[in-house]
Amino acid sequence: MAKIKPMTIGNFLRLVKGRGVKKLPLIAGHKLLYSCNLRCRMCPFWRRKDEKLLTLEEEVKMMNALQRAGVLFMGFEGGEPLLRRDLPQILEESSKRFYTSLVTNGWLLKDKIDEIKDYIDNLFVSIDGIGEVHDKLRGIPGSFERAVEGIKESVKRGIPTSISFTLTNENLHEIFKVIELAEKLEVSVSIQIAYDYSTAEKLSPKKRDEVRHVIEGILELKRRGKPIIESEKYFEAIINSWFHEIPWICKPWLTINIDPQGRIVLPCYVLNEYQGSEKVWEVDIIKLWNEYDWGRYSNCNKCALACYLEPSLFTWKDYRIVRERIIEPMFSIIFDYI
Ligand code: SF4
Ligand code: SF4
Repeated sequence: MAKIKPMTIGNFLRLVKGRGVKKLPLIAGHKLLYSCNLRCRMCPFWRRKDEKLLTLEEEVKMMNALQRAGVLFMGFEGGEPLLRRDLPQILEESSKRFYTSLVTNGWLLKDKIDEIKDYIDNLFVSIDGIGEVHDKLRGIPGSFERAVEGIKESVKRGIPTSISFTLTNENLHEIFKVIELAEKLEVSVSIQIAYDYSTAEKLSPKKRDEVRHVIEGILELKRRGKPIIESEKYFEAIINSWFHEIPWICKPWLTINIDPQGRIVLPCYVLNEYQGSEKVWEVDIIKLWNEYDWGRYSNCNKCALACYLEPSLFTWKDYRIVRERIIEPMFSIIFDYI
């Protein structure tokens, strides 16, 4: 169920602390670990070795620091977060402070769902195609079946659940089948476009005409009311930047990323430049946020990751995006409670 309390307190803190400072992070993304039980070909993270992970106490310190800096939304990811035994406790702490989401590959979801169900506001389960298409991209046979089983268990427990789909060179047209699957499972779909990391297989979509055709097709389905999370403006921005050379202004400062050792990754986790070796709770985040040279990145349109692009597009002047991102979610929270 959506939580009113942490959002209200967080919004209030943000209002007070936001006075007199220009930039505050709104969303936090935290990789709990790099280890993973899948072997996705386009993913650099499972290839990294985990150093000492944060303890539960350190996770709490991190959350307190983020809350003080104005963060309202907390997203946990990995690696595979369900591999952490203390995940339920971490999520419980997060749910007291933030609107909390979790990204999982779904392999362990059926077994672990009851441990985490009370602490998440949104669950994202990765599916990159139907059956073997998914298994081939994710590197482990049977991963599609396990992800679908996990989604069904999550839906049964009333958790707002979404499929997270990554468009690559090898699954461009599968998105339309996955949107149909989402409708059958009564979940929504979040669509990402693969980014080529130097340490993983380069699978980002390459055929320009085909990519454009697929993105336009998705946009059309979004306009027809299919359960696609990203806004119309998100897909329009990608089309404008990639095919008409009209860039969006990237505002990576709206999202703060914390690695498994508790360090801030700047300016975003794609460009991945570290701010020293200090832990996030040892840093004056608000000072750093207002001194960092974000201007260097405002014309960077290298990735179209929704966690950066969607907030970058937000403006109170655009009624369509205010309706989709503020008014409609507000009504859904109110209707959850009546
Ligand atoms: S499930 Fe996620 S973390 Fe694991 S290998 Fe795939 S993309 Fe990487
Ligand atoms: S476009 Fe992507 S890579 Fe570039 S600054 Fe923004 S988030 Fe980072």
